[in-house]
Amino acid sequence: PMGTCPLAKMSLRDNFTGLLHLWARPDVLTCTSWGAPILWDGTFDPDVAQQEAIQQNLTIGLTVFAVGRYLEKYLARFLETAEQHFMVGQRVVYYVFTERPAAVPRLPLGPSRQLRVERVQRERRWQDVSMERMRTLHAALGGRLGREAHFVFCMDVDQHFSGAFGPESLAESVAQLHAWHYHWPQWLLPYERDARSAAALAPGEGDFYYHAALFGGSVEALRELTAHCAQGQQRDRTRGLEARWHDESHLNKYFWLYKPAKVLSPEFCWSPEIGPRAEIRHPRLLWAPKEYALVRD
Ligand code: UDP
Ligand code: MN
Repeated sequence: PMGTCPLAKMSLRDNFTGLLHLWARPDVLTCTSWGAPILWDGTFDPDVAQQEAIQQNLTIGLTVFAVGRYLEKYLARFLETAEQHFMVGQRVVYYVFTERPAAVPRLPLGPSRQLRVERVQRERRWQDVSMERMRTLHAALGGRLGREAHFVFCMDVDQHFSGAFGPESLAESVAQLHAWHYHWPQWLLPYERDARSAAALAPGEGDFYYHAALFGGSVEALRELTAHCAQGQQRDRTRGLEARWHDESHLNKYFWLYKPAKVLSPEFCWSPEIGPRAEIRHPRLLWAPKEYALVRD
């Protein structure tokens, strides 16, 4: 009931809204070949989504990792803007994973919003910090986070919210179209191509290129996703391999095998460096400029 897609759902109301979506955004693809909605501005009613979510009395988790210099550089703004835009009016629990819990900024939080800090090891290589998220998230989803949240979003910290990011984005599993790649032909997409890697996609495979800076879903679905990706990464490691784009390569393999129930348009995670685009009407999250020299060792 949270997503609508023309002809994919049988209810009269859904089909009606699905047709409205086609009419609302004739300029973009609003539905995948397997019937999942692709959320573009104008294709959903945020008030309806808000009411549905309130009736279900949901708790929504938001996980973010801030290890090493990423903490000072990005975390405060990420959290401050999440307070303004992320699931406002819902029950929210933030999970911040860091090796320095004492350095996490103490932010005044809105009602029904909580922040929990979990200690993680600091990996030596940034690639390992990024990839270790899958294993850590898997464990967290099997623990307290999994018990207290119904749906969870997992995000990079090097971005900030710039528009309402509400329960219209919720679904059993949610994937984010990558801002740099959403209009590229399939054969050019930067999937892992080394057939020895667990993340490999063969020529002709792949629906979209998804961005690992944002994925989400139910606790159950994310347990599966994180287990699959962590196992793939571990298998590669034992073979002396590392996928081209690390956890993102494994995430793309996962969503090729197990199609997401909802896809977010690049409006939900946009890179301002791309410049204005007619179809990007209402960005909700903006990437920070890539200042790798400052944050990576
Ligand atoms: N990260 C971190 N410390 C690091 C490396 C990565 O906290 O040293 C976390 C952080 O949340 C970051 C995410 O892992 O946003 C992914 O890394 P990054 O954003 O650098 O990757 P990119 O977006 O450039 O692919
Ligand atoms: Mn990032």
